[in-house]
Amino acid sequence: MTADPVAITRGLVRCRSITPEDGGALGYLQDVLAGAGFSVYRTTFAEPGTAPIDNLYARIGSEKPNLAFAGHTDVVPPGDEAAWHHPPFAGDVAGQTLYGRGAVDMKGGIACFVAAALDHLTENGGKPKRGSLSLLITGDEESVAVNGTVKLLQWAKERGERFDHCILGEPSNVEVLGDTVKAGRRGSLNGTLIVSGRQGHVAYPDRADNPIRGLVTLIAALQAPLDDGSAHFDPSHLEFTSVDVGNPTVNLIPGEARARFNIRYNDLHSQASLKELIGRRAHAAAGNNIRFAFDWPPSNADVFVTKPGPFTDLAAAAIAEVTGRTPKLSTSGGTSDARFIKDYCPVLEFGLVGQTMHQVDERVPVADLITLTAIYRRIIEKYFS
Ligand SMILES: [Zn+2]
Repeated sequence: MTADPVAITRGLVRCRSITPEDGGALGYLQDVLAGAGFSVYRTTFAEPGTAPIDNLYARIGSEKPNLAFAGHTDVVPPGDEAAWHHPPFAGDVAGQTLYGRGAVDMKGGIACFVAAALDHLTENGGKPKRGSLSLLITGDEESVAVNGTVKLLQWAKERGERFDHCILGEPSNVEVLGDTVKAGRRGSLNGTLIVSGRQGHVAYPDRADNPIRGLVTLIAALQAPLDDGSAHFDPSHLEFTSVDVGNPTVNLIPGEARARFNIRYNDLHSQASLKELIGRRAHAAAGNNIRFAFDWPPSNADVFVTKPGPFTDLAAAAIAEVTGRTPKLSTSGGTSDARFIKDYCPVLEFGLVGQTMHQVDERVPVADLITLTAIYRRIIEKYFS
């Protein structure tokens, strides 16, 4: 008998796990995994100013290689629940579709991997064919992501756990299951440009120094392209998100003006080299006339790429065997917990189709749950063959 990913998805969707609440989701997973012979550990992480968050680590087998699956059970809020055609935490199946918050992002993905792992164990006398299978599951991904995967990996490392490869089950596909594997993510860096002037009366501009003039000059200069893209990435991009003077007075030249921006950058840059490049461009545009400074808040979203190789080939082959599609290796989109995992082992992202994630009536075709389970099963078989 094979494990049922639809039942497991419904079990998870019925837990109201809006970050930072767990709603029983990890306990549900713990029961399923422990029942199949996994050693399951629960650990809570906290730090000042953030809600404590529950996390789960499970492993079966003690040998190498250790194939890990990572995911999150927390979900974004449902918004106006009355706008949903099926209640967001009921796990209704209507027609051939399962509705609920987290159906694709990413309780469905977790359920498919768990079902695939259970099937693999059943076929091999209750153990992995060789090596180990692990799950790293957090309740802190959708919000600030400080008490989740980043700390769970550190915790596991301190216990002596080692990971050889990891699949993160985020909804990676764009249109149809099997179209996209994410094999890297751009980095994200925020900055603030601060131009200093001298405050004064608008009627006497010669006695003041208006920083808005300098700010406009520097904003224009910093919008030049950063690069032309690389082998694995689109061009990096700097986007201004806010221009603030904070001046409520109509006859006052302000003393300071600020602009905030975000850079999504590819593997041609590091955070340090970007700061250097932006600083150099600003200096060139400013000449001796504009006094400015940059503020760079810390960022934990560095660029990374999992280069094509045996692991991506194995996943792509499994996907092709089950779906008939050759997936694109993509590095598009926002950041994910893969930015933390990449410091421990090669990671790729493959899960359901992302079209309805974070939307009202988030939903997944039952057929996709069955197919994704088959793909994960094939990946596990190939990995341990
Ligand atoms: Zn997600």
